[in-house]
Amino acid sequence: ILGGMSWESSAHLYALLNREVAARMGGLHSARLLMHSVDFAEVEAMQQRGDWAAAARLLGEAAAGLKAAGAQALLLATNTMHKVADEVQAQAGLPLLHIVDATAAALRAQGLRRVGLLATRYTMASDSFYQERMAGHSMELLTPPATAAEEVNRVIYEELCRGQLRPQSRAHYLACVEEMASRGAQGVILGCTEVGLLLDAEAQRLSPLPFFDSTVLQARAAVDWMLADADSAPLGGKSPGEAAAPGLGRPEVLN
Ligand code: GLU
Repeated sequence: ILGGMSWESSAHLYALLNREVAARMGGLHSARLLMHSVDFAEVEAMQQRGDWAAAARLLGEAAAGLKAAGAQALLLATNTMHKVADEVQAQAGLPLLHIVDATAAALRAQGLRRVGLLATRYTMASDSFYQERMAGHSMELLTPPATAAEEVNRVIYEELCRGQLRPQSRAHYLACVEEMASRGAQGVILGCTEVGLLLDAEAQRLSPLPFFDSTVLQARAAVDWMLADADSAPLGGKSPGEAAAPGLGRPEVLN
């Protein structure tokens, strides 16, 4: 896991992965994983300057270190930094479980085709990597109007990434959901890994649309991969999203 972007959501992902493994395997089972947690201030400064090549190098080096330590696949614990997912994957020589693919699969399973997106400005931009990859899954995305979207972005960096959950920000996000529902959205992607911390189960009850939380969906897809039968598909450079997923193998006790 390439984490720390922000650590608030990585901590949540870490808990979700372990709970999901325990739920599926029982007992004291927990997730076998490695995490490289970056200093988010450095990454955010690169985003601000638009120096995505430097960010790709930083994450690529971290990913190569995870491979050297024994990792067999990568999770990038942020939607935004999937902008450089291809470079990171290539530099590390490891397959990456793509957060957009995990999210699209959940939307498709519910038969949804037109959905709202709450995310950072980099992810919501009309020409973003995110929009392009979702289009590849035949998903139509709606985003909040410009001023409202800028406030969504501000809340992520100034509040959620610092562990602040404010009622007025939750209200703003819910107003965005309502506005997108009025334009025909069938669901809403929480397309930033911190947003599910703000739009919790209580917020879901108040929302006219179902939430699709990218952190939860990424965790589930990762556990599917981790617990897949190691014998069914050896790592052959295939994307883990395709074909039978390669696995870390089951713990010895179950063999
Ligand atoms: N965690 C956020 C995301 O999922 C934003 C932080 C970042 O810029 O990486 O996009």
